[in-house]
Amino acid sequence: MIEKKNFYINGSWVAPKNQKDIKVINPATEKSCAVISLGGKEDINDAVLAAKEAFKTWGFSSKQERIKLLENFYVLYKKRWNDITEAIIQEMGAPKDFASKLQTGTGASHTKSFIRYLKEFEFEKPLGEHAKNQRLIYEPKGVCALITPWNWPINQVTLKVIPALASGCTMVLKPSELAPLSAMIIAELIDEAKFPKGVFNLVNGDGATTGDALTSHPDVNMISFTGSTRAGALISQNAAKDFKRVSLELGGKGANIIFKDADSEAIERGAFRCFRNSGQSCNAPTRMLVEKTIYDDAIERLKKYASEFKVDDPNKEGEHIGPVISDVQFNKIQGLIQKGIDEGAKLIAGGPGKPEGLKDGYYVKPTVFADVNNDMEIARTEIFGPVLSVIPFETEEEAIQIANDTEYGLTNYIQTKDNDKVQRVARKLRSGMVDVNGAGIAVDAPFGGFKHSGIGREAGKEGLLEFLEVKSVGGWN
Ligand code: NAD
Repeated sequence: MIEKKNFYINGSWVAPKNQKDIKVINPATEKSCAVISLGGKEDINDAVLAAKEAFKTWGFSSKQERIKLLENFYVLYKKRWNDITEAIIQEMGAPKDFASKLQTGTGASHTKSFIRYLKEFEFEKPLGEHAKNQRLIYEPKGVCALITPWNWPINQVTLKVIPALASGCTMVLKPSELAPLSAMIIAELIDEAKFPKGVFNLVNGDGATTGDALTSHPDVNMISFTGSTRAGALISQNAAKDFKRVSLELGGKGANIIFKDADSEAIERGAFRCFRNSGQSCNAPTRMLVEKTIYDDAIERLKKYASEFKVDDPNKEGEHIGPVISDVQFNKIQGLIQKGIDEGAKLIAGGPGKPEGLKDGYYVKPTVFADVNNDMEIARTEIFGPVLSVIPFETEEEAIQIANDTEYGLTNYIQTKDNDKVQRVARKLRSGMVDVNGAGIAVDAPFGGFKHSGIGREAGKEGLLEFLEVKSVGGWN
């Protein structure tokens, strides 16, 4: 069993002040694969003070120095690719190929992309041709608390740590206690890349104690959080007390609007995007809105597709989904599937219980409900499992109204060959992202949500700006 009980504080791996261990459970076996410790207030205090001290110099480091260290990190990241992938397979059950290509892959893409934006970014510039003695100076926000979830562990960590480093911030990362192993490799790489001590610190722990201690610490200047809407609201309350800057990436309940002239793969592609990562993606298209004239055909196709969709051991190669993260999550999903049945939605594939032949592990059957009404709980709650709700619609206006009738606003999807319709509908959808005909959202496009899906944007230039304050200086000659 892997023992990873220490925290990375001020450039060293140090023992917790008060040892409190928990097991990391491999969701494919239900057995522990590692032991970590939960940090307390004192560990957090040490980490924040190290970051505060380091900011005095790192906050004024040159762009060139930061580029060089990030390039070191990028080279080392690629060398540890297989270790990172293995950690992700163990800690959250992502299947091998998917874990390598997409989960580990996004970490590399974000790092590369942020290095490019850092190279291009002007940290100082005049306000404009009309006001040359007005100077804008972009400065790092200071000590950042970075809190990440388990579902895309390395994606989330790199979306925060890399731009924070690039902007000159210092930080304390608290990864998810359910999937901390890949994040600990990132700490090793930062150490190996030779970032100055105290710039990056990692303390493991839970939300209620460690996360709360971090987000309420008076020396933290900014909080960047990805996770549930529930925790996002609690963190915002902590932040409000001393005006910490807050960036929140929260949940979603994306609508995928399939018009009758959609391409021939739109239905299956929509189900695939819902089931991928075992449905554990904030931007998953979990409500499929289908135009009435093609509805019956869509239901037949979904029934076949979902019934044949493979669920299997994450250690196997190939395109299948693995288990969901935990027993808690498994039970929550089972409860919501039952709720869908009780509410009168029509179960056409999957349903309660585990897929055949998978006794151990938190495996869920790819499930499709037809004839869902948008007021049902399965259409309103973020299930975070491979469960698709299909809702019929008649007109474009009705589809937009249903898509927007949710507290969330992260990603919506449109499928049609009519370009005018694409542009009309995309403008009216109340979400931070709109993905059309399977094009995907670019790795460096602003990622974030409207409404309860969050505040701020990650990735690319917008993601770098999240970690910067702008200062105006008048009379600069
Ligand atoms: P979670 O909110 O339970 O936990 C996320 C992280 O926050 C963990 O590190 C946890 O320890 C910490 N945390 C929990 N309560 C806290 C508190 N009171 N104070 C400080 N920290 C706290 O969420 P989860 O179950 O790990 O992740 C799933 C959620 O994340 C889903 O709702 C999903 O939609 C969302 N998510 C959003 C995005 C996005 O970019 N919008 C991306 C991935 C996941």
